Amino acid sequence: MSPDPSPDPSPDPSPAASPAASTADPGVDPGVDAGALTEALARAEALCSDRGVRLTDQRRQVLEIVCRAGRPLGAYDILDAMRAQVKRPAPTLVYRALDFLLEQGLIHRLETLHAFIGCTHPDHPHASEFLICTDCGGVRELEDDQVQCSLHQAAAQSGFSPKRRVVEVIGTCAACARKAQSDGPA
Ligand SMILES: [Zn+2]
Ligand SMILES: [Zn+2]
Repeated sequence: MSPDPSPDPSPDPSPAASPAASTADPGVDPGVDAGALTEALARAEALCSDRGVRLTDQRRQVLEIVCRAGRPLGAYDILDAMRAQVKRPAPTLVYRALDFLLEQGLIHRLETLHAFIGCTHPDHPHASEFLICTDCGGVRELEDDQVQCSLHQAAAQSGFSPKRRVVEVIGTCAACARKAQSDGPA
């Protein structure tokens, strides 16, 4: 396997670590910052044109919604967000856009949450592991070759032919664990 030539320019954009977003509407998840969003969309645009596939307006809108949230969004959340932009978005169009984005590796599906999240490094095909925090809802995507290799070997030893591998770990992220510790028992 060739090493990834491009170092990830955005190491761990933790939504919890973002500075106070005074411009955000109260009660609205500020999500990722505008710069990161613009970058993600430009990267998607470039990848699609390299691959000769079309990032249509609809696909781009769906991608923007998923990436802007910076947290997992269910299909209904995405449809709701589309309604703010398009008068009557057809659910099938949104699902088809999601399928396209999944196929291109621009987003991932989280099976345990029935939700979607933007990929932080869509430039190469990869198997991911996800750490899902039940306290803040944050999701961290990992790309650990050892985990995938172990799974592959274990499956092969059982004579099992995997079609898809889903590795999702549910728990508490470091920031939430620290917070719980500093808050102490009520
Ligand atoms: Zn990914
Ligand atoms: Zn957390």
